[in-house]
Amino acid sequence: MSGFKLVSRHNQKERTIVPVGDLSIGNSELCLIAGPCAVESEDQLDEIAQGISNLGIKFMRGGAYKPRTSPYAFQGLKKDGLKILRNTSIKYNLKVVTEVLDTSLIEEVYPFADVLQVGSRNMKNYQFLKELGKLDKPVLLKRGMSSTVHEWLMAAEYILLGGNEKVILCERGIRTFDTTVRNTMDIAAIPLVKELSHLPVLADPSQGTGKRSLVKPMSLAAIAAGADGLMIEVHNEPETALSDGFQSIYLHQMKELVDGIRKQAELSSRKLNLHSPIPEII
Ligand code: PEP
Ligand code: MN
Repeated sequence: MSGFKLVSRHNQKERTIVPVGDLSIGNSELCLIAGPCAVESEDQLDEIAQGISNLGIKFMRGGAYKPRTSPYAFQGLKKDGLKILRNTSIKYNLKVVTEVLDTSLIEEVYPFADVLQVGSRNMKNYQFLKELGKLDKPVLLKRGMSSTVHEWLMAAEYILLGGNEKVILCERGIRTFDTTVRNTMDIAAIPLVKELSHLPVLADPSQGTGKRSLVKPMSLAAIAAGADGLMIEVHNEPETALSDGFQSIYLHQMKELVDGIRKQAELSSRKLNLHSPIPEII
């Protein structure tokens, strides 16, 4: 496989560590990003943020602009959602990971995000990738749902070529013949990308499977496969979630997940990057 230069491990042996403020993604400490699929209200995000920060988690996800299959589905709280994200993140000392849907929204989302998420549906929006290449903030680049690993790395190449080296890749499942699950989590892509590229790779088993009960086993598998961290959808009331409730774990499951991840990480001499000491549970 060839064609990519800047993202290739061939040209850069040492692994890229992406700084996010005072934190880093891609070092020997695993990064855990947790939060709802979408920001729905101040109360919702506050409860979730409190729950995850009690567990020592340092990164919070939450979409303010949502890319939905149906134009009739909840599209996100937009600017209000961004403000809620920022206020809540300050209160709980969490870094914000949120999606930027297209070039026209970069300016609006930029000040509210610590990491700019590029969704699966946008991985091949090359003009958008070029714009992200001009920024100085980390970009979390999801794998396109029907994209090969080569295409995914080429998408990252666009961002690096523009001058932004702070790229974090994220495997989020791909479309296959099997419709029993929403997506097929491509675990093999994780060690493959680590072989081919120096960029950090996270896994998102929530979009990756579309099923709550599969989130923990796939999280452990991703860590065992060498992922630098995980992005997990968690909700205070998944039944009433305005998006992706069926794949969002309950807050009380998060503690069990963190414990499992920590044990799995130790097997490969890695640590989970949490605020410590971890206080008693929610
Ligand atoms: C999400 O993280 O909620 C999301 C929409 O992800 P993806 O772009 O991977 O579908
Ligand atoms: Mn989602």
